[in-house]
Amino acid sequence: MKGPIAEIVLAGPRGFCAGVERAIDIVEVALSVCAPPVYVRKEIVHNRHVVEDLRAKGAVFVDELDEVPDGATVVFSAHGISPAVREDARHRALRVIDATCPLVTKVHLEATRYAREGYSIILIGHEDHDEVIGTVGEAPERIAVIDSAREVEGLEVHDPDKVAYLTQTTLSVDDTRDVIAALRRKFPKIVGPSRDDICYATQNRQAAVKTLAGDVDVVLVIGAANSSNANRLVEVSQTVGTRAYLINDVGDIRPEWLAGARRIGVTAGASTPEVLVSQTVEALKTEGVHVREVRVVDEDVRFALPNELEQMARERAVTVPERSAIRQSI
Ligand code: SF4
Repeated sequence: MKGPIAEIVLAGPRGFCAGVERAIDIVEVALSVCAPPVYVRKEIVHNRHVVEDLRAKGAVFVDELDEVPDGATVVFSAHGISPAVREDARHRALRVIDATCPLVTKVHLEATRYAREGYSIILIGHEDHDEVIGTVGEAPERIAVIDSAREVEGLEVHDPDKVAYLTQTTLSVDDTRDVIAALRRKFPKIVGPSRDDICYATQNRQAAVKTLAGDVDVVLVIGAANSSNANRLVEVSQTVGTRAYLINDVGDIRPEWLAGARRIGVTAGASTPEVLVSQTVEALKTEGVHVREVRVVDEDVRFALPNELEQMARERAVTVPERSAIRQSI
C-alpha cells in the first residue's frame, strides 16, 4: 500500500460527535452501575468496532424489545425510537436508559408540535434509517418521508397552506438545501424549524471534508456502510470532484485506489473511533510523508448523561464513574 504518497491530510473535525460520545458513555456506565445483563436495542451507534467493544464488555445487543426479558435493563440507541417502542417498554416493566441524542429528540419534539398544530409534515430523510423510523413514529398519519427534490412534485397534502418540513440530522447540507427550495416553490407557506435540524457535527464534518477534498487526490472516509453521515462525507468529496471511498477500517483499502496519488485525505464519520484513523495513517505513512490537519472549526459540544443512570447507581450503592474515565478503550 505504501508508495509515492507525499502527504496525508486529516479533516478536522472528524470522528465522534457529542451524541455518539454520550451514547457510548451511557452503555459503559450502565455496565458498571446496573445489574447485568444490560441490553441495548439496535446498534448503539452505527459502527461495528464500537458495538463489538461494548459487546466484549458485557452489553447484549438486540434488534427488538421482544428479545429482552421482562423487568430487564435496556438502553435505546442514539438514533432515537418511536413512542410505540417506549410504550412497549413501559408495559413490559423494562428499566429504560435513553441514549437518544438530544439533537434527535429536538426533531421529535418539532414533529409532535407540528402534528398537534394540524400541519402535514414533510420529513426529508432516508425512510429505512433508524432515526427516521423513530421520528415518523411520533405522528405516522401526518408525516411523509422524501429524500430528494424529485419527489416534491408528487407530494399530496391535506392543506397546501399548512405544511411543515423537518430533516434527518445527518443529511447532506447542500442536497437538503435543494429539497427545501423545491418544497418552498410547491408550498410557498411552508414552515420549518427555527434552527437547522442537520446537526452541528454533520455540518462541521461536511465543511471540513469539502475544504480538504479540493486539496488532495483521493479521500478515505472511515465509517460504516449504514452510517448516514459517513456516506454523506463520501458524496461531499465527490461533489468537489475528488474520488472518495468509504472504509470500515484500514483493512478495506485497495491499493489501486491510491495508485499515483500524492496527497491522501482522511476523515471519519461521527460514529468512528479515532483509533481507526490512527491505524489508517500509520498504514499509509512512510518516512518523509508529511501529516497535517485541515481544521475548519473547533467543537466544544457535550451532552450530560441521563438522570436514570444516577438513580440506578444509587439503588445499587455504586458510584457513577467520571466522564473522563470512560471510553478509554474505544
Ligand atoms: S450525528 Fe448529530 S444528531 Fe447524530 S448523534 Fe451525533 S450530534 Fe447527535
